Amino acid sequence: MLKVVIAGASGRMGQALLEGIFADDELQLHGAIDRADSPRIGHDAGEQFGRVTGVKITADVASALAGADVLVDFTRPEASMEYLAICEKNGVKLVLGTTGFSVEQKQQIATTAQKLAVVFAPNMSVGVTLLINLVQAAAKVLADGYDVEIIEAHHRHKVDAPSGTALRLGEAAASALGRDLQTCAVYGREGVTGERDANTIGFATVRGGDVVGDHTVLFAGIGERVELTHKASSRATFALGALRAAKYLADRQSGLFDMQDVLGLK
Ligand code: NAD
Repeated sequence: MLKVVIAGASGRMGQALLEGIFADDELQLHGAIDRADSPRIGHDAGEQFGRVTGVKITADVASALAGADVLVDFTRPEASMEYLAICEKNGVKLVLGTTGFSVEQKQQIATTAQKLAVVFAPNMSVGVTLLINLVQAAAKVLADGYDVEIIEAHHRHKVDAPSGTALRLGEAAASALGRDLQTCAVYGREGVTGERDANTIGFATVRGGDVVGDHTVLFAGIGERVELTHKASSRATFALGALRAAKYLADRQSGLFDMQDVLGLK
């Protein structure tokens, strides 16, 4: 059985991951990590599901990782960067689902993955992984005369914008169009903006209620629009993808992988 540790165990994704592990015979919960000031520290990780797992939620990362195969991390960038270093030191593989990393932090993840096996994807759902491929295919056909805009909606608690998934979709469109997202992205518009520059990729963000995650990539031409949309209705889709990624890492020692690798779409 694959020995899995969950970081952010009391968070929304942490809870979905625990449920996923309990339902999977190939996975064993080996540890559960959360920040030191979490009220759930010291409680059994299965408590909220009426289970006694014997695994207590702890802030002692090194002890939680001792003897583990893989860490599945859905927290915040500052915590994830710390876990990345400890995973490298202890040879524990990493499924990294956190979003909101800076360009420098993403470079550090890529450098560490030269020695450590890491799956890093801002959206672990099968549907969004497929959507990335569909966007690339559409962008190649709609390269001339179509404006690309990305619209995303999430629940009121989300702390980063635009979503990591929206950025990943933007990168997919940009690379298919031979553009660099860092120089062509427009994040929101206000006031007298002037006419739209044909080379830009625009982003619009909606936050509210309990929206799990909606993403639309819009190709707007003259006389027609193509809209590619994904809507997540449950966090289980991300959790199941992340646990699939954990299994994918079992046979790998190093390298940076994404969900296209995990699902064999490359
Ligand atoms: P959440 O706020 O419900 O949970 C975050 C968890 O991380 C909590 O347990 C919290 O205590 C812990 N945490 C926060 N800051 C910490 C710190 N500095 N040190 C240690 N622990 C810390 O958030 P969520 O909705 O579960 O999302 C978590 C992350 O996962 C976000 O970045 C979100 O965008 C991302 N996410 C990714 C995917 C994907 O498929 N890759 C899907 C959903 C969410």
